[in-house]
Amino acid sequence: MNEAEVTRATFDQVMVPCYMPPDVIPVRGEGSRLWDQDDREYIDLAGGIAVNALGHRHPALMQALQEQADKLWHLSNVFTNEPALKLAKRLTELTFAEQVFFCNSGAEANEAAFKLARKYAWDHQGANSDKHEIISFKGSFHGRTLFTVSVGGQMKYRAGFEPVPAGITHLPYNDIASLESAMSERTCAVVMEPILGEGGIIPADPAFMNAARALCNQHQALLIFDEVQTGAGRTGALYAYMETGVTPDILTSAKGLGGGFPIGAMLTTRRIASSFGFGSHGTTYGGNLLACAVALALIDTLDNPELMAEVKRKSDLFLQELHALNQRHALFSDIRGRGLLIGAQLAHHWQGQARRLLDAARDQGLMLLMAGPDVMRLTPSLIIPDDDIHEAMTRLDRAMNQLISEGPES
Ligand SMILES: *Cc1c(COP(=O)(O)O)cnc(C)c1O
Repeated sequence: MNEAEVTRATFDQVMVPCYMPPDVIPVRGEGSRLWDQDDREYIDLAGGIAVNALGHRHPALMQALQEQADKLWHLSNVFTNEPALKLAKRLTELTFAEQVFFCNSGAEANEAAFKLARKYAWDHQGANSDKHEIISFKGSFHGRTLFTVSVGGQMKYRAGFEPVPAGITHLPYNDIASLESAMSERTCAVVMEPILGEGGIIPADPAFMNAARALCNQHQALLIFDEVQTGAGRTGALYAYMETGVTPDILTSAKGLGGGFPIGAMLTTRRIASSFGFGSHGTTYGGNLLACAVALALIDTLDNPELMAEVKRKSDLFLQELHALNQRHALFSDIRGRGLLIGAQLAHHWQGQARRLLDAARDQGLMLLMAGPDVMRLTPSLIIPDDDIHEAMTRLDRAMNQLISEGPES
C-alpha cells in the first residue's frame, strides 16, 4: 500500500471513535450514484442524511460555488455580504419569516432557537419570571450540543453528559392530552419536528400540530418547528409546515439547505427576532459567502412547483415498489413517510437489525440509512431519476433475499 493512502483502518487510528463507518470509502459522486476507492458503483438513497437534496455535482450548485469561490469566501459578521442578504431575502419571501439568523448546522440553528425563545420570554415577562420551560417530545432529535441533546427526546444521547440545562420537559409525541395538561404560564416554547426523523420517520398528526399552535397562543409560548430534516423540499414542499396549515413562530433549517455545503438557518418574525439584539448571539462562520451562495442556488432550484410535484410522484413510486417488495419478503410491518423522507419499520422478529439490512444492501451496491435500530430510512436526492429508483429496488430485493436466507438473529 502506498504510504499516502488512507483506508478504513486509518479511521480507527486517527479519528475519534464516535462513528462506525463501513469499510467502503466513497470518493466520487454523480447524481444519485457514488463510487468507492475501488471504483465500485452504488446507488445513493442515503443522500448524506437528507443533505444532498439535488444529488451529487448538481450543475446549478457547482456553478454557484465556483463563481463565489472566484470572488470572496469569508468575511465574518463584522461585515454583511451579498450572498447572505440575497439568501435571507429569498427565505423571507418564500416563508412566514421576516428575519433570518445564519449558522453552520442544525444543532446551531436549534441552539439559537432555544436561546431566542428563553430570551424572548425573559424580555416580555421580566427577569424574575420563571417562564423558561421548553417542552419537547420523546423520540425527537435536535442536535448534539449540550442544550440540543437536553431538549432532544432520546435519553441515550445525553447519558453521561449530565448535568444538563434545566427547565426542559419531554412529553409523548402526538399526545394532545398530555400537552394540554403540561403547558402552563411557565412554558416559553414548544419544539417539534413535523415528522420525527432520527426518531423513526413518524409524522405529527395534523390535530396534534393544531393543538400545539392553539396551546402556544393561549400560554404566550413560541412554537418552534425543527425542519432540519423535513425542510428544503424533502417532503415535497419547501418546508413541511406549508402543507399543514400550522405556522410556527420559529423554524430551523439545515441539512438539505446547503445541498452538501454546511449551513444552518433560524427563521422567525421581526418581533421575536428583536430579542436577539446587538451582541446577544453570534457565530464566526454564520452567513459564510460560499455556503450562502450554494444555498441560494438550491432554494432557487427548489422554488419550482413542478419539481415539488415530482418529489411527490417519486415518493409514490418508492412506496409502490417498497410495498411490492414487502408483499414477497414480509420484512417490514409498516412503510411510511412524506415526500422523499421514507421509513420502513422492520417486522417483529427483525427488530434491532436495520444495520444488517444496510450492510446487505451495500454489498449489492445500494446505500441506505437507518432511523434507530428498527427502521430503514431513505432520504435520496429529490431529483433521483426513475431508473435509479427501479434499479435501487432491484438491489434492495437482492439484499432482502440475502438477509432472509440468513434468517433473523435471535
Ligand atoms: C440532523 C438533525 C439535527 C442536527 O443537525 P446537525 O447539522 O447534525 O447539527 C437537528 N434536528 C433534526 C430534526 C435533525 O434531523
